[in-house]
Amino acid sequence: MTKPISLIDVRAHQAIIGDQINANIAAVVEHGKWIMGPEVAEFERALEEFVGVEDVHALGCSNGTDALILALQTLGLPPRTAVICPAFTFVATAEAVAALGGIPIFADVEANGFNMSPDSVRQALKVAEAAELPVSGICAVDLFGVPAEYDELHQIAADAGVWVLSDAAQAFGGEYKGSKVGGVATMTTTSFFPAKPLGGYGDGGAVFTTNSDHAEMIRSLRVHGKGSDKYDNVRIGQNARLDTLQAAILLPKLGIFPAELDKRDAIAARYVEGLDGIVGVPSVPVDRRSAWAQFTIITEHRSQMQAALDEQGIGNAVYYPKPLHQQTGYGHYHHESMEMSRTDWLSSRVLSLPMHPYLSNAEVDRVIETIRSAADRAD
Ligand SMILES: *Cc1c(COP(=O)(O)O)cnc(C)c1O
Repeated sequence: MTKPISLIDVRAHQAIIGDQINANIAAVVEHGKWIMGPEVAEFERALEEFVGVEDVHALGCSNGTDALILALQTLGLPPRTAVICPAFTFVATAEAVAALGGIPIFADVEANGFNMSPDSVRQALKVAEAAELPVSGICAVDLFGVPAEYDELHQIAADAGVWVLSDAAQAFGGEYKGSKVGGVATMTTTSFFPAKPLGGYGDGGAVFTTNSDHAEMIRSLRVHGKGSDKYDNVRIGQNARLDTLQAAILLPKLGIFPAELDKRDAIAARYVEGLDGIVGVPSVPVDRRSAWAQFTIITEHRSQMQAALDEQGIGNAVYYPKPLHQQTGYGHYHHESMEMSRTDWLSSRVLSLPMHPYLSNAEVDRVIETIRSAADRAD
């Protein structure tokens, strides 16, 4: 039996920086400042430097879902106002909106890619108007690592007088028109969940903004709505801090992150070369860079391919088999007049293959061979 290939390897980096991570953990254990210790601020400065956009603030927080909630509270989401978001995403995007009493309106996917279609966002604005539902904002998702079409989304939002939030939980490390994710949208959130491109050893997240008032607001909200200190409570907040230990672990991980992103690019290119014409392969627009959170193919023979991969011990997953407008907890937000054909079409055809920076060429080739021979048998 050949060695299994995991979908995402969350430990392979330890061969390179394991000693540094252990030393950082030991230092936190020693100093004992486990809540908002010095590593948190150090990590935030390192994130700002990485994003490299003037005046950007990085605010660490407890996870990518809380990052969305902090951002929505800061941008302004009055109860029973709507946020347009994609149906083809992880549930947290709409969950954060609904948890604050907002109303998600689901939009369809663009024709060439996996992100929300700007045309569908325009349709959603019309649907909201017809339903007399006030819209507060648009929440785009950089699905599988590719930044959404922000110039067009910002234009649509400016015309409608609403804000844009970027859920970049899968795209930290990506780029849009020369700017790194974190410095592209008005406000950006990300996640350091272990399986994300920049993953910690547990939960973590961050919010990015160039607006210093918004940054102050998030600093307050993440510590119970604190004013001058945490026993001065000037607004209703929550407990949404990033753990010192996670920041200490993420610091050396951020150090090797640029090299990891290059490796992800090379692996994706090898997959594309080996699979183009056999299955639908992802394409990244020339003005963008993907963080390659997932390498997702499109195939009419998904179950046969999954069976072949499983048999070879090759990790694979379907993101997402059930889009949000079909979910039990979220279906009631769906407007029948919203076109969802691309979302529905994709959800029965997408398949994500192993993607992490430490895949060897031989492993990538084994995945390619398995898909190619499954395609031969299916035809
Ligand atoms: C993972 C993810 C989140 C949530 O991040 P957590 O850190 O797990 O809370 C939000 N949105 C998208 C698109 C995600 O993939």
